[in-house]
Formats: sequence, structure tokens, C-alpha cells
Amino acid sequence: MVAKLVWLWNALDSAEITVAQVMTMPEPSATNRSSHASSAAVTRSASSFAGDEMAPAPHSGYAPAAAGPAAAGHRNRAAMTDSPVRYEGRIFRPPSEADALILQATIGCSWNGCTYCDMYRDKQFRVRDLAETLADVAAAARQVGDRVAKVFVADGDALVLPTEHWLAILAACRRAFPHLRRVSAYATAPNLAQKSADELLQLRAAGLSLLYIGPESGDDVTLKRIAKGADFAAHVLAAARARDAGMALSAIFLLGAGGVARSQEHAAASARLITAMDPAYVSALTLTVVPQTPLATLQARGQFVLPDVEAMLAELRVLVAESAPTHAVFRTNHASNYLPLAGVLPTDRDRIVQVIDAALAGKIALRPEWRRGL
Ligand code: SF4
Repeated sequence: MVAKLVWLWNALDSAEITVAQVMTMPEPSATNRSSHASSAAVTRSASSFAGDEMAPAPHSGYAPAAAGPAAAGHRNRAAMTDSPVRYEGRIFRPPSEADALILQATIGCSWNGCTYCDMYRDKQFRVRDLAETLADVAAAARQVGDRVAKVFVADGDALVLPTEHWLAILAACRRAFPHLRRVSAYATAPNLAQKSADELLQLRAAGLSLLYIGPESGDDVTLKRIAKGADFAAHVLAAARARDAGMALSAIFLLGAGGVARSQEHAAASARLITAMDPAYVSALTLTVVPQTPLATLQARGQFVLPDVEAMLAELRVLVAESAPTHAVFRTNHASNYLPLAGVLPTDRDRIVQVIDAALAGKIALRPEWRRGL
């Protein structure tokens, strides 16, 4: 048990570039592929993106927020102060929750089966004792109560919490944090299916306003191979349930998840799923095969082949070009990605596609491998 309060600032370690900025920047040479990432003229600080209007996030490629050495991905530039708030094991949160107070109301992931994910394999899932979680809210209130605008409830699929736990936690947060604007959590399609429409409405009314969900792919073959635990139709249904309750969704897709074998199907079906789910936020991450995972075993056996960078950029292109959400903030700001992008779909679709095409042609620098994270 790590007895530290994680209070996170500026956790994004990636230089983030808006579509407009990319389109107006000088083209770096192909041999200087990282030049734009270090240019002050085209980068934005993490804090400038940390508003409610932007909330793309990983589910498959989390941003570790644990005390101690960060495991991967967005390295913490965290200021951690000793506090009675308790954390167990590694803690992960979306990039856009870098400035949120993290409450660990569950330990691990109730599914814990996705073949590429190692985030909670060292944890046996359990719902944390409610009194402990509420004690952490009280502790945070004493220490930083007037500075908390966002709360992210961890771990891996915290929506699975019993509704009575959620309502107690949300009520405590409202009392404890006078400037609270948003409470969010990771969720899976089965989590949403297991809550009644009335329960979801109650949670929304109590303050749970944003769910991060990681379909990763719209291709049912890929979803089965990565053991996601839900297919295309289940994700569409989950999105509809969240929307009916008034909750915003941030949907995450995983470039490379289909391997070389399903790359095209994965990209095209993911675009269709974005359209069908119609989330407020869409983000794409890039798959890295993590040692000791089932996917690593498949890779070692030659049963999974990770697409190369160009193929994954081509997947990204399909995702952007063929999806048609009503109005979705789109980001590839996660540290796993080779090409950080930001825009709104469908408004910025053509410009984003142009940027991806330029990257595919070697005219725009990609994030070097050494700067990538999970
Ligand atoms: S649902 Fe899958 S990706 Fe998400 S935390 Fe659980 S095992 Fe990992």
C-alpha cells in the first residue's frame, strides 16, 4: 500500500500539435524527423489542453500515475505529497486527467483479460472498502479540497462499482470539493450493460459526467482475438446507454490491434464504430506489445505480427477519413503515438488527413521510438 496523495500536474510528456499548427509549420526534412516536436512555435503545453473540452484518453495505454517510478506512457511530472490518501499498486489515468485527484475505489480490473494489457495483472480485482474510499475523500478535502476541480475514480473499470458506492462517493466529493467540475472513470461495455437506465441517470445526476471506454477496435474478429469481452454491437449499445443518461464518452482505439492480418479490417470497422458510438471524444493509441502478456506470447509464436509504423499511420488515416461522428474532439496525444494530432471530427477531417499523408510521405517528423511510451 502506498500512502501518498497523487496530485498531478502537467503529466503529458508529449509535445502536442494542433492540426492548424502542423499545417502552417515549415516542413522538416525527412532526416530531421523530430524537429517539430521540440519547436516552441508549434508545441503547446499540457496545461493548455487540460480543459473540459478536451478529454481523449487511453484505456489500453494508460498513463501511469503511481508513486514511484512510472511504468510507461506519460511519465508523471507529478508533485506528490505525503498524505493519508492511500493507493495500492500502480495507478493509471487518462492523459486528460493529469490534473485530477485520483480516488482508487476499486483495485484492478474486473475483466483483466485483454491480451495486450498488463496494467492490472498483478492485482486481484476487488471493490475497495467504501469507508476507506470515503476516508480518502475526507483526507484529500483537508489537504487540497479547494483545489480539486476534477476527480478520476480508479482503477481499470471503476464503473463496475455498486451504484450505492458510486452515489456515496459522488455525494462525498460534492461536499468535499467546492470547485468540483467533473468526475470521470474508466468503463467497459459490460459495465454499462450491467447498470440499469435509472442507475445511470442517478449517477449522472450525482456528478459522474464522463466515461472513458476503450473498444480498441470495431472489428469483431480483432475484438475476439484481443479478448476485449465485448463486440461491435455491445459497444454501440453501451454508448447509447451512456448518451441516454447524459454522460459524455471518450472512446479509445488502438492502432495495430488487428495485427498485420486484420489491419485493414480493423481500421475500417473502427471508423464505423466511431460513427455508430458517436462519442464526444475520440482518441487513438498505438499498440506496443508488452512482455509477459498473452499478446507477447502470440507474437513470439508468430501468431501475431505488429504492423509497421507506416501501416499504423495508414490505419489512423482510415479512422479519420472514414468515421463520421456528429462532433468529436479528436486527439492522438498519448505518448504511444508516433504522430500527435488534435482537431475536431468531422470538421477538421480533411486537414488531419493531409497531415497524416504528409507524415506518410516523410514530410512531417514522427515521435522517435525513445520518446514513445505505452
Ligand atoms: S478492460 Fe482490458 S484494457 Fe481495460 S484495464 Fe481491463 S484488461 Fe486492461
